Amino acid sequence: MDSTLQENMPGRSASTGGASGYLTIDLNALARNYERLAAEVAPTRAAAVVKADAYGLGADQVTAKLYARGCRHFFVAQFVEALRLRPRLPADATLFVLNGLQPGDEKACARDGIVPIINSLEQWQQWSQAARALGRRLRAALQFDTGMSRLGVPPEHRAALAGLVKADRGIEVLFVMSHLASADDTTSEQNGDQLAEMNLVAAEFPQFDVCFANSGGIFLDKAYHGVLARPGIALYGGAPTTGMPNPMEPVVRLEVAVVQTRTVPAGTRIGYSGTHATVCETRLATIAAGYADGLPRSLSDRGAVYCDGIRLPIVGRVSMDSITIDVSTLPEGRLRLGSLVEVLGPHQTLEGLARDAGTISYEILTSLGHRYERRYC
Ligand SMILES: *Cc1c(COP(=O)(O)O)cnc(C)c1O
Repeated sequence: MDSTLQENMPGRSASTGGASGYLTIDLNALARNYERLAAEVAPTRAAAVVKADAYGLGADQVTAKLYARGCRHFFVAQFVEALRLRPRLPADATLFVLNGLQPGDEKACARDGIVPIINSLEQWQQWSQAARALGRRLRAALQFDTGMSRLGVPPEHRAALAGLVKADRGIEVLFVMSHLASADDTTSEQNGDQLAEMNLVAAEFPQFDVCFANSGGIFLDKAYHGVLARPGIALYGGAPTTGMPNPMEPVVRLEVAVVQTRTVPAGTRIGYSGTHATVCETRLATIAAGYADGLPRSLSDRGAVYCDGIRLPIVGRVSMDSITIDVSTLPEGRLRLGSLVEVLGPHQTLEGLARDAGTISYEILTSLGHRYERRYC
């Protein structure tokens, strides 16, 4: 790690390379979250879902840390992500592509030893053809649709696939898998329905192991664990179960600098379209992050940031590059040019910010912008 990054404390703008926002990613908290999840599912093994650049936090850093803690199975969604990540991973780490391959990707996939998830008869046939053409066995995993209607072999194609698998020795199947649609909701009947369907799949493919639970699934019941669990959001500090205390440690902290402060009289309009007008004299601060930095425009007149634990409401529209906040409740002079406010941290969780924005923690994380200075610790 670059130690100069750690020495650059927030607010010392002279040494920061021009950033006015600081995204701190705590890789030790990530590692502890991995260990917490691995302990929860043991003796089932825990993989790591690192799609979308490890939910926006940096797939290179995240996979290196988790590999060092014993993780050997990594999932991305798209083949392009696997191509980038594969050379960074040690040879004994297995890299899976959840969406499987597009026609034409097979050769590169086989060359790099990447393992596609087979989601359809068509993907099976293409991978099987590649194995024949290359004259060697290729690894894969089979995904089944158990009720989400998104990806995976549908129930009506299961028997046909079972026939192909039996007849074709060219593909080594590592496991069968499916994905839960409502695992974050422990009261949803869909969980039990999908488990029942997955048990049918397992009965039709008894020779293979099962891979099933995402973060939420890990906390549902042992019955969802299979031999390999696939947590994503919980690794990164997101709550695996909606409406329950979050057992995971926060991984991300986001602080943004003030670019201007002002005091305005009652009746002053703020921001684009003047959606907010002050009702009394108000002290304002403008901070240097906006929707281009991943703070959704839906936070306009809704969300807040924090300073010294005090809630500072967003007033007016979120702009592309800035947000205006009401700082009247802070002591005068507390915030100046260059002062930092907390967007994510001890006083504002991912879930809290996501709720205010009308979205989910996943979207907040994967939208985190690239103008922040990223610090890994
Ligand atoms: C994204 C994804 C996961 C991880 O889900 P989380 O809810 O983030 O734990 C697991 N499996 C599949 C198929 C996914 O698409």
